[in-house]
Amino acid sequence: MKLNKEQELFIEKKLNALSKSKFRSSFHLRNYMIKMIEEKEIETIEKHCMDFIEKNLEKANNPKDGHQTPMKSHPVFIAQHATATCCRGCLEKWYKIPKNRDLTEKEKKFIQALIMSWIEKEYRKKDETCH
Ligand SMILES: [Zn+2]
Repeated sequence: MKLNKEQELFIEKKLNALSKSKFRSSFHLRNYMIKMIEEKEIETIEKHCMDFIEKNLEKANNPKDGHQTPMKSHPVFIAQHATATCCRGCLEKWYKIPKNRDLTEKEKKFIQALIMSWIEKEYRKKDETCH
């Protein structure tokens, strides 16, 4: 998706803050997730990302809040833990999005952009490390 300069800067700032959290920065793409991105292509992952946001985060008062995002199996899930978009509790704490109402379209798009920025950054890092 296309971001304007202001949104880009905001996301950059947030990713920077997240990288300073010991817990958030402990999450990384696993090899099988990198493979998945290569096989499915980034546009598909971006679509999955919105599906997960709508299914797991959009509605307020999810009784499973805090437990709806697995720690494995999909690159978006790992990215959600790394970006503190894993549940409404974390979204409220990190982004001041109140958890007692549904997400707006704008918030959904922001969350998607944030997750995808993290994935793209992590994905690029794969070539910089020794194997
Ligand atoms: Zn959470």
